[in-house]
Amino acid sequence: MMDNQRKERIIGLLKKLQHSIDKKVANKLALSKCERMIKKMDEFSTECEGCNLQLSALEDHLKDISQKQKGNQLYEEDIVQHKRKVNDMISHLRKQHKLVAEGHYLSTYMALGTSLGLVFGIAVFDNVGMGLPIGIAIGLAIGSGLDGDAKKKGKTI
Ligand SMILES: [Zn+2]
Repeated sequence: MMDNQRKERIIGLLKKLQHSIDKKVANKLALSKCERMIKKMDEFSTECEGCNLQLSALEDHLKDISQKQKGNQLYEEDIVQHKRKVNDMISHLRKQHKLVAEGHYLSTYMALGTSLGLVFGIAVFDNVGMGLPIGIAIGLAIGSGLDGDAKKKGKTI
């Protein structure tokens, strides 16, 4: 069954929560990331049962969190549970829909560039300090290029 209002409803819940809780807790709950994921999952939910189910579960879960927040009963274990949910959603979006986290390529290629720079610096210049900045610069260029590309194509979470 299609539910056109669901996205607005869930984002509404999210916003309300965002305004009623401490900034620190909001960050812990990764609420802005949640909003991006909800929008993505909503796009996919017409043809993906997984997204559909995750969204319904998230709506219930956010209601639950809001209730607890209102009663001042939002505890660390709820935050842990919430994070687990967010991670489930991320891994679904990654595996089923080939999305990547924002900054994914940058961190991947920076790590690669750093280790290549080390090897390269020792092999070519006999000096780690020479290779490292080159490796990092290359990693930065490739990584941010790929991130920009993924973002343009709407492939980031
Ligand atoms: Zn899906």
